[in-house]
Amino acid sequence: MQNHIKLPKLGFVRIILHRDIPAGWRMKHATVKETASGKFFISLTFDVEMEPIGMKKEFEKVEAFDYSMPSLVVSASGGNDISKDTICWYRNLEEGIAKEQGKLSRMQYGSANYWEQKHRIGKLHEKAGNRRKDFLHKLSHDVARDFDAVIVEDINLQHMSQSLNFGKAVYDNGYGQLRNMLTYKLNDRGKILVKVDRFFPSSKRCSVCHEVNHDLELSDREWTCQSCGTHHDRDKNSCKNLLDEGKDILNRWASGDSSLILAPSGVLSGKKLHPQAHSNVRQGGE
Ligand SMILES: [Zn+2]
Repeated sequence: MQNHIKLPKLGFVRIILHRDIPAGWRMKHATVKETASGKFFISLTFDVEMEPIGMKKEFEKVEAFDYSMPSLVVSASGGNDISKDTICWYRNLEEGIAKEQGKLSRMQYGSANYWEQKHRIGKLHEKAGNRRKDFLHKLSHDVARDFDAVIVEDINLQHMSQSLNFGKAVYDNGYGQLRNMLTYKLNDRGKILVKVDRFFPSSKRCSVCHEVNHDLELSDREWTCQSCGTHHDRDKNSCKNLLDEGKDILNRWASGDSSLILAPSGVLSGKKLHPQAHSNVRQGGE
């Protein structure tokens, strides 16, 4: 039956299908979810055999995304930054949510108005989430199409938001969401996502002479290298380091370095198992 799905206990339920299901796909299971605004979504999981795509081994165009607090996400090319300006519509929605939340706090808990307001806020949250997702889908699609490989930081955003108390901003910028989307969109095209070890000192290293500036504070937006005198913009320098390190990992992998493993998901990780071994390699390589 078209545009219906048969669910246990409920029988046939009318649905809107967001994507056509190609012939030969075998359904594994379905998950039903209700959103805050009262809509129901069903995610379907299929089992399907795909033709293997040959992995790309030449990397002419490489992009890097660095996580940065005030400007959210910085790109090595400069053309794919996520700044407060590029997502101002999201900020506007957020302000709207804060306003409605204030109204809710003045309502009597459990009253009809209260639940109506709660529903309105749920809808706004959903709208903000959808807009962010649309934005990130478009960005990741274009980047996966235009570049041969992408470098990201292997940072644990959840851990970071807890330890630095940046909670809200970290989740808002969607760096993690962008990384996930890039991973599968690159993999679909036989391209690679490189994760650079979280212990790599991308911010503190001078991208020109590789001297590490241990005195660099989180609040320092610009700094001058004591060793070579280069004046750096914190984010641009960090992104340049990330790009160089990622390219190095790609080249080593392409020339057969057996310590680098490409996961079936198309993620190439430069992570070493022992931090000590890692620091030795780092010194030897510089
Ligand atoms: Zn320097």
